[in-house]
Amino acid sequence: MSLNLAMMLRESANTHPEKAAVLFDGGSVSYVELDTASDRVAAGLVGRGLRPGDAVALQLPNVPEFVVAYFGILKAGCVAVPVNLLFKAAEVGYVLADSGARLLITWAGVAEEAAKGAADAGVSEVFVLPIPGTPRPGVGHAFGQLLETAVIGPPPLHQSDPGDTAVIVYTAGTTGRPKGAELTHFQLFMNADTPGRLFGIRDEDVVLVVLPLFHVFGLSSILDVCVRFAATMSLVPRFDPAKVLEVIARDRVTVFEGVPTMYIALLNHPDRDRHDTSSLRVGVSGGAPIPAEVIDEVERTFGIVVLEGYGLSETASTTTFNVSAEERRIYSVGKPIYGVEVQVWDADGEVLPPGPEHVGELVVRGVNVMRGYHGNPAATREAMAGGWFHTGDLGYVDRDGFFFVVDRKKDLIIRGGENVYPREVEDVLYTHPAVAEAAVVGIPDDRLGQEVKAVVALRPGRTVTEAELVGYVRERVASYKYPRSVEFREHLPMNATGKILKREL
Ligand code: AMP
Repeated sequence: MSLNLAMMLRESANTHPEKAAVLFDGGSVSYVELDTASDRVAAGLVGRGLRPGDAVALQLPNVPEFVVAYFGILKAGCVAVPVNLLFKAAEVGYVLADSGARLLITWAGVAEEAAKGAADAGVSEVFVLPIPGTPRPGVGHAFGQLLETAVIGPPPLHQSDPGDTAVIVYTAGTTGRPKGAELTHFQLFMNADTPGRLFGIRDEDVVLVVLPLFHVFGLSSILDVCVRFAATMSLVPRFDPAKVLEVIARDRVTVFEGVPTMYIALLNHPDRDRHDTSSLRVGVSGGAPIPAEVIDEVERTFGIVVLEGYGLSETASTTTFNVSAEERRIYSVGKPIYGVEVQVWDADGEVLPPGPEHVGELVVRGVNVMRGYHGNPAATREAMAGGWFHTGDLGYVDRDGFFFVVDRKKDLIIRGGENVYPREVEDVLYTHPAVAEAAVVGIPDDRLGQEVKAVVALRPGRTVTEAELVGYVRERVASYKYPRSVEFREHLPMNATGKILKREL
C-alpha cells in the first residue's frame, strides 16, 4: 500500500465501501461516500488553480465536512493547515500568512474573525460552510462554491510522495509565536498504523471523536487511525459530558479518546449512570498527565481499560503508549512505539541512566518526528539540537523501559532552590475526595523566588477548607513541596483540547 493518506482512504473505501466512516447527529457517511465527496473537493481545488504543495487552511468543528475537506485537500496534493476554532482574527491571520495558505475553508460560526484574519493575510479565497447541524442534503453539497469550478474528467488523486508534507499543525511551543510543525504523509501514515495496531483497533470499532480534529491528537491519533483501519468515527463538535454520554449510548461507541479533564467531567456528571455505556471497551488518554485515581475510577465506573499515551504536535502525536491492561504501568506514559526512540538527556546532552532519581529532558528520534518548523530553520535547529527532537518535557525511564513524564520544563517550580514538580503535588490533590480539578503553579516570592500555590475546583456537593487541603498535602509530601495557599474556582481554565491553561492561573 502506498504510504500516502489519500490512498489510505481509497483503500478503506475499496475494502469497506458501505461501512459508516462518520456518524453525526443521527446521520452517517459511508467510506465510499467519503471517498467520492472528497474527490469532488479535490476537483474543486484543482479547478480553482491550486497545485500540489499549496497550503489550504481548514477551520471547522468536528463535523463530517472536516473529514471530507481534509481528504479533498490531500487528494489534490495540497497541504492541510488546521486552524484552531477559538482563534481571533490576528491569530488566524498569522497562521494563514505563516503557512502561505492560498485558500481558507471555514464555517459560519467563526466567519467574522476568519474573514478579518484572511483579509490581513491577503487570502482572498474564503469558503464559509453553513452552520453544522442545519439540514444538509449530502456532504458534497456543503462545498457548493468550491465545486462550481469542478474540473471535467476523472477526479484528481495526486500521488504524493511519502516524504511530502501533508499537514502543518500550529503549536504554541515553549517560546515565542506559534510554529508550524510540518508532518509528512509517511509520518502520519505510520502514526495511524502503529498505534492503531498496538491497541487493536478494528473495523467494527466506533470511536468517539470529541477532541478537536484541528489538533494533532484528534487528527492523527483518531481520524487517521480510524480511516487506516476502516473504523467508524462518531463526531461530537464540542465537549459536553451530557452529550458525550448520550452519543456513546446512541452510537454504541466502543473507544473513547480524551484528555484527562474530559474523563474527570464524565465521572462527575450526574447523568453518568443514566446512559447505557456498556458498549465501551477501551479509553485512551493523552495530552496531559492522568491521575491514577481518575484511571481507577473510570475503569470501575465504565468497566473499561484506560490506556495512557504521550506525544506532541511535533511528533505527529503518539510517541509512547501503554499498550494493554497487562502491559502497562500506572503513572507511566508507556514505551516508545515502533520506529521511535526516546532518551532522557541532562542539560549537557548526556544520556541519563534509568531510575526516578535521573530526571532530564525527554528527546525523541524516529519516524514520527516532524520535518521541521515551516519556514523557520532557526527554531528547527534549536528543537533538533544533537539530531534529536527536544520535547521540553522532563521525565525519566525505569529499568523496564517505561517512560514517566514528571512535568513540563516551563512548569517546573523552583522554590528556594528546590525543584517542585507541580504534577506530583497535583496527583496528591486528586486523591482528596472533594477535588475534581487541580493545578499547582509557582507564584513570585521575594524570599524564595517562587512559592507553591494550588488552584482547585471541587466536586459537586463537596466542601473542604483551604487549611484542610494544605494540611492534607503537607502530610504526604516533603515540606518544600506542599502548597502554601489554595484558591477555589468553579472550573479551571482550559484550552480547546481540554488541557488546563496554567499560564492563565
Ligand atoms: P501538543 O503539542 O499541544 O500536543 O502538546 C504536547 C504536550 O502535551 C507535551 O509536550 C506534554 O507536555 C503534554 N503531554 C502530552 N501527553 C502527555 C501525557 N500523557 N502526560 C503528560 N504530559 C503530556
